[in-house]
Amino acid sequence: METNPCNNIVNGGSSIPSRVNRKTKPDDTIVKINSVQVGRSEIVIIAGPCSVESREQLFETARSVRAGGARILRGGAFKPRSSPYSFQGLGEEGLKLLALVREETGLPVVTEVMDTRQVELVSSYADMIQIGSRNMQNYPLLKEAGMCRKPVLLKRGMMATIEEFLLAAEYILNQGNEQVILCERGIRTFETSTRNTLDLSAVPMLKRLTHLPVIVDPSHGTGLRWMVPAMAKAAVAVGADGLIMEVHYKPEEALCDGYQSLDLDEFTRLMTDLQKIAIAVGRNISLPKPAHV
Ligand code: PEP
Ligand code: MN
Repeated sequence: METNPCNNIVNGGSSIPSRVNRKTKPDDTIVKINSVQVGRSEIVIIAGPCSVESREQLFETARSVRAGGARILRGGAFKPRSSPYSFQGLGEEGLKLLALVREETGLPVVTEVMDTRQVELVSSYADMIQIGSRNMQNYPLLKEAGMCRKPVLLKRGMMATIEEFLLAAEYILNQGNEQVILCERGIRTFETSTRNTLDLSAVPMLKRLTHLPVIVDPSHGTGLRWMVPAMAKAAVAVGADGLIMEVHYKPEEALCDGYQSLDLDEFTRLMTDLQKIAIAVGRNISLPKPAHV
């Protein structure tokens, strides 16, 4: 008889599946994206544009976020847009630009995969593949990601409970891929003043329930550029292992999510503040030494 590997642990009777469960594996899982390790005391910052738009946009943004202390570059090539008439991303051309920028900057790249048919292509270019909020419960995609040998950044579904989020991660681990990072990116509530309600309580809850690293996306979590720094600092204070933030060299000209993207100076300034918070909570963010002028 097939057994259900969910241990009925606690928490309002919810069941946390076994492979992601901290009771099964008490030690933190460290996710390795090339030479970058997520889940240790160093807090890892992922930054870059919402979508890859051009060579110039990607290179300028990447060089600047690297100088500011980002360790991984983000940028969507296949974009899940609410409207079919909005910019859908550059597709494979965008993946090629990401690979070129990695060559120059040394930054590993993370980019979204929306469909099972794209997993092979996207994972041949990316150092980590992202499963977006809208696809958190796309079970065939989760399984396919579990079969590929690249780390997976799994974003919380905008309507998903913590239990559903962990069950989604379990699908990936079940296929033999344990390199999974969870990302809190805000959920839908009755509140409309922010794009989503960033559930920072998810961070300590997830850290308690699972051994997987947990990061926060204050860009999609708020939808407001001016609020991103405050929520980024709060995320570090509550124990996030990293942050993923949208940064654009010209936010007002961005083809996607410019209103929630930091500009290059805002990002650099924020990194100095984040380092102070990290140190205050017993973690660290190493910043590169400023280049001599
Ligand atoms: C993104 O990171 O570009 C994105 C689309 O995020 P989410 O899936 O959280 O909406
Ligand atoms: Mn975006």
